[in-house]
Amino acid sequence: MARDIEEIKDRIGGCFWGQAIGDALGLGIEFMSRDEVLHNYPEGLSEYSQIGQVFHRGRWNQGDWTDDTDMMLCIARAVIADKDIKPETVAHNFKEWYKSSPIDIGGTTARILSLFEYEESPNQIAQMMWERSGRNNAANGGIMRTSVVGLWNENVAGNAERICKLTHADPRCIGSCVIISELINSLVWQDKEQSFEELLQLGDRYDSRIKQYLEIAKNGMLEDFELDDKQTMGYTLKTMGCAIWCLSHVNSFKEGLLKVVNAGGDADTNAAVACAVLGAKYGKNGIPEYYIQNLKRKGEYEEMIRQLTDILIEKFM
Ligand SMILES: [Mg+2]
Repeated sequence: MARDIEEIKDRIGGCFWGQAIGDALGLGIEFMSRDEVLHNYPEGLSEYSQIGQVFHRGRWNQGDWTDDTDMMLCIARAVIADKDIKPETVAHNFKEWYKSSPIDIGGTTARILSLFEYEESPNQIAQMMWERSGRNNAANGGIMRTSVVGLWNENVAGNAERICKLTHADPRCIGSCVIISELINSLVWQDKEQSFEELLQLGDRYDSRIKQYLEIAKNGMLEDFELDDKQTMGYTLKTMGCAIWCLSHVNSFKEGLLKVVNAGGDADTNAAVACAVLGAKYGKNGIPEYYIQNLKRKGEYEEMIRQLTDILIEKFM
């Protein structure tokens, strides 16, 4: 049993560190096309120190993460406070984070969190904004922060749904959050992943359009997601798909990190999700130390991981 606890702790840590690392390295490529990636990083981007002061990136410190991990931390800190997943605490933390004027924030999320009455009825507001979009906005702002929900070892799908709906009402957003959270949960707590058929069934419960992206993840190439297409780069199913693609197409954490980041597009979000999943699979021990040691806000993050890991182990072991 003692050995199992250490393995589970290692995978919990891997998931958290993976999220932050993918986010921090992906920032160097966020919103670039493949051609722009090759122009800016002819040898590929592999270290935080290569991230130049181009475009909007000068506003961040080297090795710093972005809104993806900030919002994941809003959930993590709510779990530490409540020793449970309570959407009202998460919504409160989202709103407080919004009021702190973060360097970046996704469009859907900003429109919703800016509303005065957000905390009173987050789900209704998210639903209303989605209706107003013509029910056609399925951005990746929910999936980018869902990793920690998968670590809570009960009612995973229900929790993932409720936390996603605090800002994103589209069934593709909800389904992709559930799938990623369930995958992380199985990897961490059972050391296994769902079969392709199980993922298809899970996706079909939410939206028939999820299937196509699961099929690419199983049988396609990373390029088939067209991650760098300017019109669709923030699509939740692309972010979900490339994370699942990594599970069966790469052999190490680092290989997945570099492939997803250098594919361009919404690279910080794609890599945050993919690397949370890969971290859950390979554990903290599978992550090269460089990427952890050189994270800008490593100290506070490490403390959060320690606190939350203790809560998870005490509750679920
Ligand atoms: Mg971001």
